[in-house]
Amino acid sequence: METNNLIITLIVLAGIYSVINLMIYQVKREQYLLIFAISFVLLGFSYALLGYQAVLPAFYAFVLYNGFNFLSYIFILMGIRLVFNLRKISRLSVAITIFSLLLVYLFAVVLENYLARVFIVSLTIAFYFIEALVDLNHKAIDVSDSAKKMTRYFIISSMIIWLIRLIVILYYSVQTSLIINNNFQSNVFLILSVVSVSLWFALSMWLDTMKSMQSLDEKNNELEKLALRDQLTGLANRHYFDYDIEFLVASSKRNKSPMGMLLIDLDRFKLVNDIHGHDVGDAVLKQTAEIIAHSLRASDRAYRWGGEEFLVVLPDTERDGMITIAEKINQNFRESVFDVIGSITVSIGGAEYEIEEEIEHWFKRVDLSLYKAKQTGRDRYNIWVADEDLPEFFNRIEWRSELDSGNKEIDADHQLLVYYTNDLHDSIINRVQVDSIKELILRMTTHIRTHFSKEEAILYQSGYTNYLEHRSIHQRILQEYEIISGKALVGEISLGALMAFLVEKVVIEHINQEDSKFFGQIN
Ligand code: GH3
Ligand code: MG
Ligand code: MG
Repeated sequence: METNNLIITLIVLAGIYSVINLMIYQVKREQYLLIFAISFVLLGFSYALLGYQAVLPAFYAFVLYNGFNFLSYIFILMGIRLVFNLRKISRLSVAITIFSLLLVYLFAVVLENYLARVFIVSLTIAFYFIEALVDLNHKAIDVSDSAKKMTRYFIISSMIIWLIRLIVILYYSVQTSLIINNNFQSNVFLILSVVSVSLWFALSMWLDTMKSMQSLDEKNNELEKLALRDQLTGLANRHYFDYDIEFLVASSKRNKSPMGMLLIDLDRFKLVNDIHGHDVGDAVLKQTAEIIAHSLRASDRAYRWGGEEFLVVLPDTERDGMITIAEKINQNFRESVFDVIGSITVSIGGAEYEIEEEIEHWFKRVDLSLYKAKQTGRDRYNIWVADEDLPEFFNRIEWRSELDSGNKEIDADHQLLVYYTNDLHDSIINRVQVDSIKELILRMTTHIRTHFSKEEAILYQSGYTNYLEHRSIHQRILQEYEIISGKALVGEISLGALMAFLVEKVVIEHINQEDSKFFGQIN
């Protein structure tokens, strides 16, 4: 084996390892990668000095080689420290470095002693290795044991290689002439160096992968928690439901097993917030989640649906089973004692899944059942009876040709009325923020008012015969709408009741029945 070839191999390898670390650094911007890259450059440089030792005065070649080699180890260990979030450099190691440099200077210039220098440098490097091992054991927290074990193994094996090299050097060249000759021991020394440099490179890549996986894991866990769990109650949230329900429905279809859904809403919860404040309200919500969870079987699922509403899916449960569980939940709330407020009740709506039904349709039936439980006095449950139909107000309204009056302005207004109604419908079904729902309700009031007066003016000008009657119908609808929306705005009646009025009275009755009387009479 040619010694020069081995040296060139070492330099090229160190260069490649450095470039690979640099390339990854370009992407990740992790400081330890930069430090690893520097350490390989230093290492390559130190071997270049060995190769050119004949060109340089032997003494300088030797001192510089050892200096760069030494520095490269410091950098590698510094990189490892960064990976494990340990201090980059300790005060003790700085002190020891300064001290050993002074000693090396002393034994180089004042008392020329080669063995003493080798001894000092080796001891210093040994100190760095041992310090890294100790810190890794005691100070590296939040790191997997396998990462620690792997690093420890590398450090120890490098120490062993370093020691063997040291012995080889000491044994064969006890003078400062050429350190590397074309002989057996030089080759052993260089081959060990190739192994050692490659091991360090492997470690740098392994650590980087480990670090990436670790931060990815952390982020994933965090995201999962954030995205699928409700922070206040710890229950699964709506996103979780969306993800779960497909699977639940599929398995219910496959096994031909029934499945129930309950929507549980705290009664007059707004009062709790208004009287006792949001913190008390939050504590009530937490306890509510616990009571619900304790009322269920292990296979049942509970979700925080929004605000003070909780959704429960009951696999393998028919209407009778749903009644038993709803009764139990109502009863458990009656018997529970809450801090500050004493007691609170819930209303429950429920429906059994019907084969081939859209999940959204199923949910609407549950929602309507809850609405009925509220309307009939609260602190009770209402489970959907098969064959009931969903009332029109529970669906979006489709614009249809029989709603066309023939007058462009009136039609534009009517279409806007339907559009606003659907908008409100969507916002309620999707449980958007209360404030934006309020805005939609007020927008609707303004629209109805301006539309009615515009329509009245058009009818008056066209000499419509029932003009006066129509105007008084408008006044009545507007008055009722103002009362009902006012109550909905302060939470006295539910948004469902407001929607029922809007769709049934304002849209269907008003456009379809009253306005249709003048369709064709005006233009
Ligand atoms: P009802 O019996 O008709 O259900 O009356 P309610 O007062 O419970 O009805 P509504 O649905 O109008 O009120 C819900 C209130 O829940 C509105 C808001 O003050 C409160 N709320 C929603 N989310 C939270 C929350 O995260 N924390 C607290 N403390 N209150 C919330
Ligand atoms: Mg509610
Ligand atoms: Mg409520």
